[in-house]
Amino acid sequence: MEPQKDFAVIDAAPEGQRSWANRWHSMVLLSDARRSALPQFPFPGEQSRYPRPDEMLDYLASVEAELGVRTVWGVRAQKVTQIGAGFTLQLSTSSGDIQTRNVVCATGAATVPQVPEWSQALTVPGIVLHSSEYQYPAQLPPGSVLVVGGGNSGVRLAEELRGSHDVTLSSRTRRRYRAREHYASAAGSTLSWLSRVRRPEPVFSDQAHLSPEITRASAVVGAGGATVTFADGSQMQPVSVILATGYAPGVSWLPEQHSGRPLRTKTSVPGLFVAGIPSHSLRGADTIPGAWRDALTIAHQITDRP
Ligand SMILES: Cc1cc2nc3c(=O)[nH]c(=O)nc-3n(C[C@H](O)[C@H](O)[C@H](O)COP(=O)(O)OP(=O)(O)OC[C@H]3O[C@@H](n4cnc5c(N)ncnc54)[C@H](O)[C@@H]3O)c2cc1C
Repeated sequence: MEPQKDFAVIDAAPEGQRSWANRWHSMVLLSDARRSALPQFPFPGEQSRYPRPDEMLDYLASVEAELGVRTVWGVRAQKVTQIGAGFTLQLSTSSGDIQTRNVVCATGAATVPQVPEWSQALTVPGIVLHSSEYQYPAQLPPGSVLVVGGGNSGVRLAEELRGSHDVTLSSRTRRRYRAREHYASAAGSTLSWLSRVRRPEPVFSDQAHLSPEITRASAVVGAGGATVTFADGSQMQPVSVILATGYAPGVSWLPEQHSGRPLRTKTSVPGLFVAGIPSHSLRGADTIPGAWRDALTIAHQITDRP
């Protein structure tokens, strides 16, 4: 296989603006440098440190250069269809259509910010932001901040903002804490064998509990005007609200799955594969090592195809 001749990598983002380009300023990865690297491409520098997103961007650009891949930026995949019952797929993109034997969807597990419906009815004196839009504390006017969502982003942002704002963290479930070194093996939600209820991903942190300055609140069940109502009936009128309510995968351009649950990385369309998205793979597929595992599996599946 010749690079750039037998395959093309397209990305909807402007040149070099991988998902890491948009994270908040103080962010560091949850996985240390050693566990954030792809096999055969060690992360430069001290291995036990937690890299910043801009270091991750540089690292991925250097891996791309070493592999000889030239991503075509600013091109969005819009639709993929199987032509007849044969081996050819038609990929429609923002730059036109192309026919090919294989298409790999690697459009991310955390691509579309999830915004709860009740937040549309909020008119707070400050601002309402999704965590994907948060950059630094001074972005928020002085006063109280309600952070909605007790996952990794929500807890990190609440901890950052407690130095400058009066912070309340609303969460649906009790937070479970795990040491950061367990991120690579324990990322992702799990299904409890006893209750069959899905338990959210643990919070990965060096401290095992929320700082006492942060007020805890139950799940938000509604909002109207400047008032937010929680599951226990209490109410709050925050100055600003951060919605750390997660993301949906970027799979809207894929066809409906014809039959049952997708097999690992395969879809019901022959030649159409999905990498890095747990609903199409294993738990932890939405981590750097997990996406790499999927990529290897797909490479074998493609070369083994008749
Ligand atoms: C806040 C946060 C912190 C994280 N921290 C860690 C961590 O510490 N360690 C770790 O291992 N993982 C972490 N992750 C997960 C990590 O981001 C992913 O595992 C990794 O980015 C997966 O790479 P990917 O290429 O599959 O997806 P992404 O990095 O999401 O890349 C998807 C790409 O697809 C492009 N795209 C989307 N839709 C289209 C379309 N229709 N057409 C063309 N292109 C499209 C996007 O522009 C993007 O560049 C974190 C995620 C988040 C949200």
